[in-house]
Order: sequence, then C-alpha cells, then structure tokens
Amino acid sequence: NDSLHDVDPDVAAAVDAELHRQQSTLEMIASENFAPVAVLEAQGSVLTNKYAEGYPGRRYYGGCEHVDVIERLAIDRIKELFGAEAANVQPHSGAQANAAAMAAVLSPGDTILGLSLAHGGHLTHGMKINFSGKLYKVAAYEVGAETGRVDMEQVERLAREERPKLIIAGWSAYARQLDFAAFRRIADEVGAYLMVDMAHFAGLVAAGLHPSPVPHAHIVTTTTHKTLGGPRGGVILSTADLAKKINSAVFPGQQGGPLEHVIAAKAVSFKVAASEEFKERQRRTLAGARILAERLTASDVAEAGVAVVSGGTDVHLVLVDLRDSELDGQQAEDRLHEVGITVNRNAVPNDPRPPMVTSGLRIGTPALATRGFQEEDFREVADIIAEALKPGQDLAALRDRVSALAAKHPLYPGLK
Ligand code: PLP
Repeated sequence: NDSLHDVDPDVAAAVDAELHRQQSTLEMIASENFAPVAVLEAQGSVLTNKYAEGYPGRRYYGGCEHVDVIERLAIDRIKELFGAEAANVQPHSGAQANAAAMAAVLSPGDTILGLSLAHGGHLTHGMKINFSGKLYKVAAYEVGAETGRVDMEQVERLAREERPKLIIAGWSAYARQLDFAAFRRIADEVGAYLMVDMAHFAGLVAAGLHPSPVPHAHIVTTTTHKTLGGPRGGVILSTADLAKKINSAVFPGQQGGPLEHVIAAKAVSFKVAASEEFKERQRRTLAGARILAERLTASDVAEAGVAVVSGGTDVHLVLVDLRDSELDGQQAEDRLHEVGITVNRNAVPNDPRPPMVTSGLRIGTPALATRGFQEEDFREVADIIAEALKPGQDLAALRDRVSALAAKHPLYPGLK
C-alpha cells in the first residue's frame, strides 16, 4: 500500500491533526476559507505531474491537450464571473499576481501609490523590504485618524505631488468599500494606471454584494482562496489591450511552469462562485460581520476599552481597536485561541505598539459562513468574542460554547 499514511506517517499525522483543528475550532482569520471537497480533489489530482509552460494552444511541452481544456475553462469562467475582457489564471499566489501585474506596466524606479501597510495595505503595495518597495519608488496614502476611512483628498493630493505611474486601490485590513470611480478619475488626471487588488473582497464582488472594480480599473488582481473560497492562488484580470503584456510578465517574466492542478481547482471554484448557493453564503458572510461589529461596539465592551475601527463594517471583516484596552493584540489573539476561536492580531491605524504585538485584531466571517453559520450562530460567536475580550472572564465556559457551535456545523464530515 502506498497511501500517505503508509509512506509518511509523520506528515499524515500532522495533516490529520490539522483537519481535526479545523473541525473543532472556529476559523475567523479574515483571509481564510474552507475550499469545497471538489476543489481539494482537483488540486490533489494527477495534473500535479504536468509541465505546461506557455498558454492554452501555445505550449512549450507536448501532451497539453487536457490541461488546455482546463485552463481555458478557468479563463472563460472568471472572465464571465467578473465581466473582464482578459484573464491570466497562472499566478501561483496573490503576491505573484501583483508582482507580474506591476512588471507588466512599470519599470524599476517608477513610482507607485498604495495604501500604507500600517493602515491596512498589503506587503506588495509598497512595503520597504518587499519586491514592491525595492523595485519601485513608493508613495503611500493612509486612513483618516477620526474616520478610519481612506481619505480621497489625500490620495488626490499625493497623486498630483508624486505623479505615480500606478495607483493601487485595495487592502488586507480595512472594513469599508473604496470609491473605484474616484480612484480612476485621479489616475486619469495624473496619467497613471489604476490597479485594484480585490483579493479580500472578490467573493463579495462575484456575488454582486460589493461594487465591482472591473469597469474602473486597468488591472484587477485577486487571490482565489479568501472570500472567493477556492484553492490558494492568484489571478490577474485586465482590459484586452494589456493582456499580452500581462501574459508575458507572468510567463516567462515571473514564473515557469503553471500549476495546472491548482488551475483546475480554480476553475471548479469559479463555477461554484457563479451559483445561487455561493451568493447566499456571501450574504451570510456580510450579515455575520455586521452582527460582530454591532456586538463589539456595545457599551459593555466599550467599557473594557474595545472599539471598532471606522465604527462598523461594509465587508467580511471587523478591525478591532484595542488601544484603550488592558489587552494588546497578542494577548487578545491568545485569549481567543484559548476558547477555540482563531483570529490574527493586526495593527490598527496609528498603532503605538510594534507589529509583532499590535493593538488590534482582524476578525472575519467567510470561513464560518462556508461552514453554514446562520445569523443566530453569528450572534452567539459575537457574544463569545465580546466576553473573551473582557479581562478576567472565565474562558473555560466560553470554550464549551465554541465546541457546541463547532458540533452544530460539522466541517468536511466525509473526510477522516
Ligand atoms: N493582496 C492582498 C490584498 C492580500 O491581502 C494578500 C494576502 O494576504 C495578497 C495580495 C497576497 O496573497 P498571497 O498570500 O497568496 O501571496
């Protein structure tokens, strides 16, 4: 027998333990989700064996007739899903999608303008030691200290002063919608390309529950594993005139052989994302985040120094502000871990603490919505979190309430 358990019991045991962790705890990391079994199956298929450098119909290897079918399906489905003129489904990750998209339209030394990492932007939007900060000159906009929202007047002023070649709209830790039309107007005024990184909110866009950046941006990048609920990976959408440049920036510019097993899994997830069931799931995702924001702005938690950045949410996550709490981000993450809820600590705008500690939490609802959580379940989760964030609370009783919710919504019941 050559199953994983026989060949490598050590790895098999860790995989089993991870499945058990996912089943028995509540996953609230905003960038995570549970891929359907069909996606896991496609990703674990024999496609993992195939080299396919190039694009469908123009490969540098023989035997690509079947992977061509799969990659074309993935391309056609995501173009249809978002109404995009062109799509490249080969980027291995969101970071690689951004690297290739930038390489397609920029030269080293050009200026980019993106949301500051400390205010919710992503590493690839210009962090100093990321490729984006090393290759390009970086200007960064921030969120307003009072509003917690992106300040379009500052974006406009910085764009006029810095004359970026690329403006990036998108975020990793922000709970509001961006004004894509305003970004495009500013980009046009200064002669910049507009790239929207919708990695976090792509699933909401697919479901029609968040404005689409596609009609406004020259380029839209995304990951496929967050709200979109597919395999780990990246995608670049663009206008037709940029397609050739983007394709050659991905391969051979940044990558070699595409991961056709992942592309097959992407194709499956794009089919799922076009379904009514997916829309209904995204509705519960948004409802859950709103319930959480409301609970975490109630008077009992406010008395414990807990607040919500920008006062609420329009998306799938809540950014919790602990600057006035006894707990720092690390302690709050640890307390939730103890009760069986997984979140990540996250810097809040103007955070006085270092990035390894922080004064905030980012809490998201996509994975629990996928697990079948209804509004009543999200009310219970929100209450457990609110109680856990009050110093001195008995965590053992909260852990029992988490276990009851996990048992009520079994995850991957067919997997062992
Ligand atoms: N873009 C945004 C907005 C993200 O939040 C992330 C991941 O957190 C990425 C890109 C990068 O994706 P990956 O981790 O797949 O490289």
